[in-house]
Amino acid sequence: MTQYPGRAIISVDALRENLAAARTHLSGQRLLAVVKADAYGHGVLAAARAFLDAGADYLGVAELREALDLSAALGATRTVPIFSWIFDDTVDFREAAAAGIEVSVGATWVLDRLEDLPAGAGIPVHIGVDTGMAREGFAPADVPAAASRLAALEARGTVRVVGLWSHLACADDPARPEATARQVELFEEARRDVRAAGIHPDVEHLAASSGVLWHPEALFSMVRPGIILYGLSPNPAVATAAELGIRPAMRVEAPIIADRWVKDGTGVSYGHTAHATGRTHLGIVPLGYADGIPRAASNRCEVSIRGQRAPIIGRVCMDQFVVRLPENARPGEMATLFGSGSSGEPTADEWAERIGTIGYEIITRIGPRVPRVYEGA
Ligand SMILES: *Cc1c(COP(=O)(O)O)cnc(C)c1O
Repeated sequence: MTQYPGRAIISVDALRENLAAARTHLSGQRLLAVVKADAYGHGVLAAARAFLDAGADYLGVAELREALDLSAALGATRTVPIFSWIFDDTVDFREAAAAGIEVSVGATWVLDRLEDLPAGAGIPVHIGVDTGMAREGFAPADVPAAASRLAALEARGTVRVVGLWSHLACADDPARPEATARQVELFEEARRDVRAAGIHPDVEHLAASSGVLWHPEALFSMVRPGIILYGLSPNPAVATAAELGIRPAMRVEAPIIADRWVKDGTGVSYGHTAHATGRTHLGIVPLGYADGIPRAASNRCEVSIRGQRAPIIGRVCMDQFVVRLPENARPGEMATLFGSGSSGEPTADEWAERIGTIGYEIITRIGPRVPRVYEGA
C-alpha cells in the first residue's frame, strides 16, 4: 500500500505520563485536559482517550463544534464532562447539553439567548470572567448583573451554573508576578459577586499550564493544562520540558526520498537563498509548508538523520524541503524533524526558538494530511 511519506508518531505513554507529572503540582484539584485544536495536533480522539485513561476529570476544547464532534466520537466510553468556550449565534444549547457539553457564558448576547430557552432546559454553564486578558468573559464590573440574570435562569431550571472561570495572561513570565496576582484578586472578587447572587459553582478554574507550574495561588478547584500534557514547556526560558519532568509526545519524521551530490556554488530551492559550499550531499524530505512545516524554518532549522544533524538548505517548499545530508546517508533513511530530543534530534521547542515562535505553534500546525501513528498501548 502506498503511504504518505511523512508522519507524526504520537507516544500515548508520554501523554499519560505527562498528565501524571502535571498532577504532582496539584493538591486535590480537578484536572481538565485541554484537547483543543485536534489535541494540539496529536489527534483529539486518541489523546482524549489517553487522558481519560490517566484520570482526567474533564476535557476541554475551545470550539463548541470540536466538542460536539469529540462527544460523538467518544460515545458511551466518556464519563467526564467536556467544557467549551467558543461559539457563535448558531449555537444550539440544548444540543450541547444533550451531548454532555458545558459551555461558557461570558457575553450579554449569550445571556439573552439563554433567556429565550424554556424553564427546565438545564443547560450546564460556566461563568467566564475577563480578569485581565481582554479576551473572553464578562468584565469584572459586569459580573454582579450577569450573576443575577443567571441566578434567575437557575431558579427556573433553564441553566445550571456549574463553573466560574477565567484565563491568565502572564503566568509564564517570571518578571510579571503582579499581573497574575491582580488576576487572582479579580477572580476572587468575581467569586464573591457570584455567591452573593446565590450561585455556588461546583468548579472554579483559572490556571492553564503555566499557572499549574508556577502559580500555586491560582489553582482554585480545577486547572486546565494543555501544553504540558503534550510534553512541551509553556516557557522553555523558565524551565525546559526535561527540567519539568515531561517529554514531547509527538515525533515528526519522513524518509529521505532522493539524494544528489552538487558542486560548489549550486543554488538550492526557490530563490537560491542558499548555495552549496564545496561539493555537497543534498537530500529531499517530503514534507513542506502545506504540512505545517514553517517556511520560516528555511535555512534555520535542522533535522536529525541517524543521530546526526542535517541543516535545512534553502527555502522550505509547499510539499518538500532540502537538507544537507551526512556524507554516508542514503535515500530511505529516516529524517526526524523534531521529537523528544532523547536521541539528539531537535525538539519542537528548538524549532520554535530558531524561528522566533513558540512550541505550541510548531506542533499545532502539523497539517491534517500528515498521518498520526500511535505508539504504546
Ligand atoms: C489553550 C487554553 C488552555 C491551555 O493552555 P496551555 O498553556 O496549553 O496549558 C487553557 N485554557 C484556555 C481558556 C485556553 O484557551
